[in-house]
Amino acid sequence: MFTCRNQSCQAQWEQSDVVIKNEGQGLLFRCPMCGARNYVERFDGDDGSVLYEQIEGRPDTGPMAE
Ligand SMILES: [Zn+2]
Repeated sequence: MFTCRNQSCQAQWEQSDVVIKNEGQGLLFRCPMCGARNYVERFDGDDGSVLYEQIEGRPDTGPMAE
């Protein structure tokens, strides 16, 4: 379960509700409700499944502006 990090939105989504993609600054999904970027980290499960976990803020990718 993901929670939109937009303070005024905070909608909750299942992984199947969102599209996770890499826009060049790390994996993220855009909230279907408000469009906010929510960054996630990818994990590979023991059984070969792919899991995503939401991370605070954004990945440390240097001085790239939003
Ligand atoms: Zn949102």
